[in-house]
Amino acid sequence: MSLRLEKGARLVAATHNPGKARELAALLEDRFEVVSAAELGLAEPDEPETTFVGNALVKARAAADATGLIALADDSGLCVAGLGGAPGVHSARWAGPDRDFAHAMDLVARRLSESTSEETDAWFICALAVAWPGGPMVAVEGRVDGTLSFPPRGSRGFGYDPIFTAEGETLTFGEMDPAAKHAMSHRARAFAALKAALF
Ligand code: IMP
Repeated sequence: MSLRLEKGARLVAATHNPGKARELAALLEDRFEVVSAAELGLAEPDEPETTFVGNALVKARAAADATGLIALADDSGLCVAGLGGAPGVHSARWAGPDRDFAHAMDLVARRLSESTSEETDAWFICALAVAWPGGPMVAVEGRVDGTLSFPPRGSRGFGYDPIFTAEGETLTFGEMDPAAKHAMSHRARAFAALKAALF
């Protein structure tokens, strides 16, 4: 079996988040036929692992074995130095069931002010995993480093973007032109690594 993704292959994007499925499809540059796990009626797997790569592999494995298709999954989040790497793999859960990121960003600010280290260095991580049905798996990771600042600024991104400023930038990810964010983001870097490995 060749560990290359051939042009035109049918892939399942192992996400139930329609925004992410669109983003994954866009990043695959129309090279593949992408169907989402939600479209195929797959159950949403837990994220039981302690690493981004571990969770991406679990999601890709489950989707590939359930569909018989090559599966692509991601797992991402924000890590804060002063919080020992939290929220990390729990980034989505910090926003609660309502996905309230104003609340999650406020929680980051409060936990930092309570912590002995007010270290505002932070980084976003994106892990991408590809699994072949009944076969091998490949995972890569992308990272972007920066610092946090409060209060949140900008409404152009999503999630924790309004408190994150990438190294060498002055605007937060929430204020930046989305194209500029996408050119330097953890997700873009993970995709570049995936392309180098598999395309
Ligand atoms: P998951 O990958 O679906 O488990 O969740 C990722 C979590 O990290 C979500 O809560 C996102 O809001 C957050 N996150 C991931 N990437 C970004 C980003 O580019 N900007 C802001 N928040 C992000």
